[in-house]
Amino acid sequence: MTTPAATEHRSAAILSIGDELTLGQKLDTNARWLSQQLVDLGISIIEHVTVPDDLDAHAAALARLAPRCDLIISSGGLGPTADDLTRQALAIAARDTLVHDADGERQIRAWFAARARSLAPINLTQARRPSRGSLLENKHGTAPGLFSTIESASHRCDVFCLPGPPREMMPMFDASVRPALRPPEGRVIHTRVLHSVGLGESDLAQRLGPLMDRSNVPLIGTTASGGIVSIRIRYEGEAPRERARALVDAAAEKVMQLAGDYVFADGHDSLASVVLRTLKERGQSIAVVESCTGGTLAEELTAIPGSSASMLGGWITYSNQMKQTQVGVPTELFAQGAPGAVSREVARAMARGGRDRSGASIALSITGIAGPDGGTPTKPVGTVWISLAHASGSDTRRFSMAGDRASIRAWSCTAALAMAWQHLAGRSHPLLRQLEAHAE
Ligand code: AMP
Ligand code: MG
Repeated sequence: MTTPAATEHRSAAILSIGDELTLGQKLDTNARWLSQQLVDLGISIIEHVTVPDDLDAHAAALARLAPRCDLIISSGGLGPTADDLTRQALAIAARDTLVHDADGERQIRAWFAARARSLAPINLTQARRPSRGSLLENKHGTAPGLFSTIESASHRCDVFCLPGPPREMMPMFDASVRPALRPPEGRVIHTRVLHSVGLGESDLAQRLGPLMDRSNVPLIGTTASGGIVSIRIRYEGEAPRERARALVDAAAEKVMQLAGDYVFADGHDSLASVVLRTLKERGQSIAVVESCTGGTLAEELTAIPGSSASMLGGWITYSNQMKQTQVGVPTELFAQGAPGAVSREVARAMARGGRDRSGASIALSITGIAGPDGGTPTKPVGTVWISLAHASGSDTRRFSMAGDRASIRAWSCTAALAMAWQHLAGRSHPLLRQLEAHAE
């Protein structure tokens, strides 16, 4: 199980294997992580490919990718059962045969012995490898990884096959793949990402104009997810690292000039973490009062490590009665002909009541119709009122969210956090999908 020698790796493909991925039951997080590692090393990614547990599809993907890149990293399909076909697929693509690896068997036996577990004969299939390849040690599971090459007269592609479970795949990459990689000398990939909220992707693209031309160096692109539009800036080339960084920073500066009003973070920060950090820096705090989001706003905030420095807590006031008893929403707001639970008045009373009762510097409330039932002509599914109570009053807005129940709830949390961020950052622009803005 020695680490194999490698030639230069300029380009790579990531191959993810498993029915659970192609059936949409499991998210492919391995490809994302592996890409990040390779891009950081200056290795370009030519493709992400996902195949089911199917020998033909798997071998064909390897055979198609190998002539087009220097490196393939796959994950999955290394288990001992009949649907784990990575060994066979690699042997077919490399025009090789499988052999038993005695050292691999010793390691597998030792793994079971150390845990006082009995070894089934089927586990020994995991000690098989292509005759010209080698096994990669797995310190966190039973499946060794594989290394082999797929060669033609003029080209060699190194193939590393890693186990599917991320907690086995990542340490194996670090121990056995990373040291064997030979990134191209002098080739640099430098990236930076800015996150914005409040502007749709096409509006943002319009603002950025020619900055987004695909021939630009560095390249600027956008991706939208759940109400957040991220602006990705990427330099890829032969410039010295310092120069690459300067080019990316200059592009980021231009982006900030054109759309900076909407940018809340640079790097990996989320809206919730930016809100919490700002509050903490100012010695301030937040509380939440949730109806249709049922605690997911509190979950988003408390998921951030260290959130207790500024997140005081909150209420899930799902029923009208709880809205009255817990945060003091006036009873008359629910009477016949009154505004009702999904209204400006109730949202505002919820936020104000939450702020008063918690003693927090700011409080957010959310009340809306997440569907699929419960909509009316005047309050269709997706109608959500969000209010922010602060020291000098409150800001209450009506949103019209599209999508199913889950996305309406998720988007409501993003909109609420965006309102808190706008308030803390002193921004006053309208928010995406906002039908009505009304600052009081
Ligand atoms: P394996 O037995 O090597 O095929 O991998 C088994 C488990 O690894 C699967 O049940 C998944 O939970 C996980 N897994 C496999 N591929 C991926 C992937 N691309 N991203 C995240 N998890 C994965
Ligand atoms: Mg599998």
